[in-house]
Amino acid sequence: MNLGNRANPFAGDLSPQLRLPGNRTFPKRFALHYLAAMTPLLNFSLCLAAAAFVVSCAAPQGGSSSGRDVYGHRPGPKNFQTVIIDAGHGGKDSGAVSRSTGQKEKDLALDTAKRIAAALRGDFKVILMRSDDTFIDLDERVVRANRHGGAILISMHYNSGPSYLRGPETYYWRVDSHGLATRLQNAMAQASSGEYSSRGLVRRRIRLTRNPEIPCVLLEGGYLSNPVESALIAQPAYRQKLATKIASAIRTQAAQGDAGTGPLPRPINAPPSRPTDAAE
Ligand SMILES: [Zn+2]
Repeated sequence: MNLGNRANPFAGDLSPQLRLPGNRTFPKRFALHYLAAMTPLLNFSLCLAAAAFVVSCAAPQGGSSSGRDVYGHRPGPKNFQTVIIDAGHGGKDSGAVSRSTGQKEKDLALDTAKRIAAALRGDFKVILMRSDDTFIDLDERVVRANRHGGAILISMHYNSGPSYLRGPETYYWRVDSHGLATRLQNAMAQASSGEYSSRGLVRRRIRLTRNPEIPCVLLEGGYLSNPVESALIAQPAYRQKLATKIASAIRTQAAQGDAGTGPLPRPINAPPSRPTDAAE
């Protein structure tokens, strides 16, 4: 952040050429006096600027006059009416493929997304980003999510990594998505089982956690690369259990907002995520 030039009203006035109206200039000794006289004022203005900076970073509402900025530096959502569920990957993009069951992430994510949608209908307006096996670019998913106000975005995925890793994981980036991410991760951990049942929250700036104008999280419902967890995910009853818990967490967030989800994380100013950033 370029604090100095923007916040310091004297930044452009302290050049050696102190010009007066009528194109007169200060004699050099007056210029020095002027500078000496201005120093306390300058210090004061820098203090004010620093204070404003600290306040804007600390306030959960964000620093803009509207209380809302593009980085999502605001408390989490409450009383939202619309839930957008994004099934990860699709079409030419299979996502992860389980070596033990042969199942593809794109199919399992869509199945789980539909189960979450079914569990929420009636209480919310539910929008599926895709309802069949089609490919949608990530930036296009952001554009579509931004068409809806009073909404949240949940992107459903299954994970892949070293075969010993297992357990659900939730990705978030923004302050306004932390409470929701906490609830959803706890919900998935309850559905999961075993010693390594939760891998917790991961704060990562990717396109679907940074770029939408609405609170947004990305769920990894478990590792397809782990034979035990992959066999679990292959069971429709397990995916239903996962979906039911996720839907319940969304309902709780709508009713209670961030209450009980712990302190908000520090805001981080960062540019939108681009295709050249880490894959999701
Ligand atoms: Zn994925």
